Amino acid sequence: MPAFICTTCGTQYPPSDAAPSGCAICQEERQYVNPLGQSWTTLEAMRRTHFSTFRQHEPGLIGLGTAPSFAIGQRALLVRAGDTNVMWDCVSFVDDAAVEIVRALGGLGAIAISHPHYYASMVEWSQAFGAPIFLHAADRQWVMRGDPAIEFWDGETKEIAPGLTLIRCGGHFEGGTVLHWAAGAAGRGALLSGDIVQVGPDKRVSFMRSYPDYIPLDAGSVRHIADMLEGWPFDAIYGAWFDRIIPADGKEALAYSVRRYLAAISGPPARSP
Ligand SMILES: [Zn+2]
Ligand SMILES: [Zn+2]
Repeated sequence: MPAFICTTCGTQYPPSDAAPSGCAICQEERQYVNPLGQSWTTLEAMRRTHFSTFRQHEPGLIGLGTAPSFAIGQRALLVRAGDTNVMWDCVSFVDDAAVEIVRALGGLGAIAISHPHYYASMVEWSQAFGAPIFLHAADRQWVMRGDPAIEFWDGETKEIAPGLTLIRCGGHFEGGTVLHWAAGAAGRGALLSGDIVQVGPDKRVSFMRSYPDYIPLDAGSVRHIADMLEGWPFDAIYGAWFDRIIPADGKEALAYSVRRYLAAISGPPARSP
């Protein structure tokens, strides 16, 4: 039986004879239903048209994506963790080449995902490597394909490997999580931020309830994200796409961006001189 994948958000559903009647992730206000109508694909179909892509961002950190771009278009990150790797966020596409390459790199010791838009084909990746999947319990209702490998965690932080800590920030999703990598950026620390702290093309960040539908986040939620990250040292911020990276001074970029955001939703923009 095929496991259908929504072509708009990339979420994989449990194996079924017929496609699901709709995609609950796309029907919710933070996403949107394909204007041409709900459409589905499968891994088998995608393997005729897509392939996996890799890019090393820095020693110990490799991006894993899909070409041509699929659904939301995010890439996952493979973070070195001893003799294995943690997969941060996930992609819908899985092929033999990616599985062989990841295995040669030491496989996956764990998968952790920032929020439901990137749950993607997490169960396929988990089954290929026997890896547990760490998801924040507050977003439990958005898991479309459940699996015994999913470990729902509660609370505000969880260290999943030495120097790799999940930090629940909320915001975009109630269980919105980022990953702090202590050894990243040559030991200065890196933040792997998904859509929770969204890296913009100007090397600053922003925060939204819905990115495609332009629904902003409230001031309290943005302040909470800043508070949650206050005590964590980091220099680099790795966003959800290959090119959304702040290579240095990420801490300052975050502080500046929080001030800019709060000013922007509090009153009219300052006039240019
Ligand atoms: Zn969808
Ligand atoms: Zn999202």
